[in-house]
Formats: sequence, C-alpha cells, structure tokens
Amino acid sequence: MVEHTTVVHGITRNKPHRGGWTEHEPTGRAVVRCTCGLDSGIVAETQAVQIADDHRRTAAEARVVTA
Ligand SMILES: [Zn+2]
Repeated sequence: MVEHTTVVHGITRNKPHRGGWTEHEPTGRAVVRCTCGLDSGIVAETQAVQIADDHRRTAAEARVVTA
C-alpha cells in the first residue's frame, strides 16, 4: 500500500541584510510533494494548496476502492 504524506513546501528567497543576517522572504510560490512520488514543481502557493487538497482527496478515494 502506498503511503500518502502530502506536504506543501513554501519557497522562500534569501534576502541578505547588512549586518550579516539573512531574511527568508516568502515568494508566494510553493512545491507540493508526496511520499508516493508526487512532485508538482513550482506553482503559485494558492495552487499548491489546491493540488495538495485534490491529491489527499484522490488518495483517500483510492484507498477506499482498493480496501
Ligand atoms: Zn500521494
């Protein structure tokens, strides 16, 4: 049985500041990854959330069908 742990990774951009510290600035983009091998590539964060939701729903349905 394939496990589905779907994670949305928000993508940040390193923004160096004077004084030697770095800010991780959100880019509004994200990647969806799942333990089943899903990798959405870089998409808008809102779309990433949608993809993750859809994937979880599809995975849940698949699990019911194969049970
Ligand atoms: Zn999956």
